[in-house]
Amino acid sequence: MNYQAVLEEIQQEVQPLFGTGKVANYIPALQRVDPNKFGIAIATPNGEIVSIGDANEPFSIQSISKVFTLTMVFAKHGESLWKRVGKEPSGTAFNSLVQLEYEKGIPRNPFINAGALVITDMLISDQECAYKSVLNFLRKTSGNASVDYNAEVAQSEKEQGFRNAALVNFLKSHNNIHNDIDNVLDVYFHHCAVSMSCIDLARTMLYFSNHGESPIANERILTVSQSKRLSAVMMTCGFYDEAGEFAFRVGLPGKSGVGGGIAAVIPGKLAIAVWSPELNDKGNSVVGMKALELFTTKTGISVF
Ligand code: GLU
Repeated sequence: MNYQAVLEEIQQEVQPLFGTGKVANYIPALQRVDPNKFGIAIATPNGEIVSIGDANEPFSIQSISKVFTLTMVFAKHGESLWKRVGKEPSGTAFNSLVQLEYEKGIPRNPFINAGALVITDMLISDQECAYKSVLNFLRKTSGNASVDYNAEVAQSEKEQGFRNAALVNFLKSHNNIHNDIDNVLDVYFHHCAVSMSCIDLARTMLYFSNHGESPIANERILTVSQSKRLSAVMMTCGFYDEAGEFAFRVGLPGKSGVGGGIAAVIPGKLAIAVWSPELNDKGNSVVGMKALELFTTKTGISVF
């Protein structure tokens, strides 16, 4: 299939949507991003990369990072992980406190903030330096040794992170945080503040397209079964309060972030990442979602 021609068509067709969403404004460092940025990258397990637009420009991956911390913790703990975090869609906002109250401190899934904070706590317990281990993982799986945190974004997250602080305190009151809460928040803000390009992200996500083995790192990251399970969690919980809409329109497992990125996979075939900073009112990239919908419609490949 001529993916380049497909991406060129998509780039034309999404043009009317620019200006219809809103760049994330909860921290100044994200608010300043040019709303007209747009990139898509496709990576295949045999090393082919097809891209268009600003696919080489690093942007704030935000919640997409939750997929990678979850991968690291799942690889280490296996199924016991699910004692501390559930795997059901939440149906409420990503930073909601409400469900935690009646779920007794067990977050509904690892992609809402509460769940990601528990995963970060587990990562800290596992790794001598959780900071470095996340970067090492991303550098290894993307093949790009310059992947790094954006210190300004991390600092901004910290200054505005009152709700995340509330979540982590509530979780701690239920004994579902084992480390120092400031440390958990600090590592969490840093992994959300990682910058990567669409090309980096597509290459990293290849371990999901390749049944758990990264062709970039040449290493098994997850077992076949673990890769299937995390893909299922991405499908059902990866798009804030809009996972159903994303499955309906696009039909791929993936994860979005408020930096405007979406990383998705087609098991056995490819990984695809798109970036466009303007978000809809659920926090997903407007143009990014449309671009992926066009991609699966035009190529006829999705998980369905
Ligand atoms: N760092 C953001 C927060 O915790 C993540 C936002 C996102 O991409 O969902 O609020």
